[in-house]
Amino acid sequence: MIDLRSDTVSKPTPEMRAAMAAADVGDDVWGDDPTVNELERYTAELLGKAAALYVPSGTQSNLCGLLAHCERGDEYIVGHHAHTYMYEGGGAAVLGSIQPQPVPTDETGMLDLEAAEEAVKPDDSHFARTRLLCLENTINGKVLTPAQHQAARDMADRHGLGLHLDGARLWNAAVSLGCSPAAVAEPFDTVSVCLSKGLGAPVGSVLCGTEDLVAKARRWRKLLGGGMRQAGIIAAGGLHALQNHIDRLADDHANAQRLAAGLEAIEGITVTGCDTNMVFAQLERNDSTLSKRLEGRGVLADWRFGRSRMVLHLDVSETDVDTALEAIAAELAT
Ligand SMILES: *Cc1c(COP(=O)(O)O)cnc(C)c1O
Repeated sequence: MIDLRSDTVSKPTPEMRAAMAAADVGDDVWGDDPTVNELERYTAELLGKAAALYVPSGTQSNLCGLLAHCERGDEYIVGHHAHTYMYEGGGAAVLGSIQPQPVPTDETGMLDLEAAEEAVKPDDSHFARTRLLCLENTINGKVLTPAQHQAARDMADRHGLGLHLDGARLWNAAVSLGCSPAAVAEPFDTVSVCLSKGLGAPVGSVLCGTEDLVAKARRWRKLLGGGMRQAGIIAAGGLHALQNHIDRLADDHANAQRLAAGLEAIEGITVTGCDTNMVFAQLERNDSTLSKRLEGRGVLADWRFGRSRMVLHLDVSETDVDTALEAIAAELAT
């Protein structure tokens, strides 16, 4: 099966499984797991931060980050389509009593900083205390630029806010910008990165930041049930991914371009976006059984309301892209 539904479907490679099988382990809640400790040290260094925390998921990583910055009755400002606002079950509000303050996002994926600045509340008992500004990069495959990051940092500094990055796909942003992961992470107090998307690790995210914020996040991880014991087994997969699978994300970006160009050439499809490892496409006429028919041809892609997001990752080769294009062209021709 050629699976274009998400980069989360990527599977551990044989080399990654071998690294996992051979991992030294200990009780990570006690700080005794050498592989988790190495993953945290390595990721912190890669992102130029003082400390790091290994967590089971990106959702928990973002939540630990938000909880480290904000207390009960505080709020964070966030783009209205951001993962930390839309797709995390309202965790900050449900579990942290932290209020999200959404603001519009423009076509580049950047939140409207002017609207964000207007949303900062004065010190008045009517209002929640504004504490934090959250960005996301990449966002729907789009890359925010260092200038956009810096503008957010300047705004946060003007109002004494913390700055958090949901960098689930920060690696794709760095590869696309041609800069180091640390350069992308530089303006942020905390950064959450995923190991289990295009990097291909089976599980896990890492929250990086200052010693102080990561220490707070570590307490929250335990409270949230994220304290794991011999987690070195899975951390070894993440470490292998960081050491071997970042540069190859450029192949996914090239495959996304190849897929987009191929789709454009098919009658009845328009490509509405292609950035980093994601391709967005729209059918001229809705075709409610297309996903099902493509599955019959060995291609998994979600088409809903005539729209699809297709995601490239390390289990989709250039040949697979061509095969997928043939399947889509054949189904739309019938
Ligand atoms: C996937 C993702 C997350 C959450 O990661 P999970 O491991 O699925 O919880 C957070 N933010 C963004 C932008 C993501 O794509």
